[in-house]
Amino acid sequence: MERILGQTKISIIQGDITDQETDAVVNAANSSLMGGGGVDGAIHRRGGPKIHEECKKIRKTEWPSGLPTGKAVITTGGKLKARHVIHTVGPVWRGGNHGEPNLLADCYRNSLSLAASKDLKSISFPSISTGAYGYPIEKASRVALKTVTEFLHKESSLREVVFTLFSPYDLKIYEEATEETL
Ligand code: ADP
Repeated sequence: MERILGQTKISIIQGDITDQETDAVVNAANSSLMGGGGVDGAIHRRGGPKIHEECKKIRKTEWPSGLPTGKAVITTGGKLKARHVIHTVGPVWRGGNHGEPNLLADCYRNSLSLAASKDLKSISFPSISTGAYGYPIEKASRVALKTVTEFLHKESSLREVVFTLFSPYDLKIYEEATEETL
């Protein structure tokens, strides 16, 4: 499914984020930036050790106690087709009354801002927080679509935003959210 918003194409696809050829792919990281399961594990496995090295440097110089939830940092894409990985830390779902929607929106906004500030033209997102972090995907998809749409209304340098969903079920939920939002 595709939508055009100003100068930007928004694509909703099923796939593996490590196959994406956008300028950047977004990693649903944890605050340690030292790798983990899910998307994080897949990106580090396929991207190779260069990503980990840069993450270590970022921890040492910028975020000694870990990257806070909602923030984003950028590294090389290593051996991935994408030249860069943007690492962001999604909120752990704790029932929805602990600021989860705002923190999840921060992830999308800060990742997009970082991409735009580096003059990147295309970016792929996974469904942040909806795996190990337990954020209900019906809710998370709407936050994701709304935040990206609002951002693109203000900042138009990006040419393509891809949502890469891992399962057919996740794809269906994001398609429904897109129908509602765009
Ligand atoms: P979080 O800890 O933020 O919840 P996860 O990596 O556990 O992050 O899961 C986020 C989403 O990413 C889940 O919907 C999961 O199915 C999906 N996912 C896992 N591996 C990949 C991959 N290689 N490409 C795209 N999406 C993936």
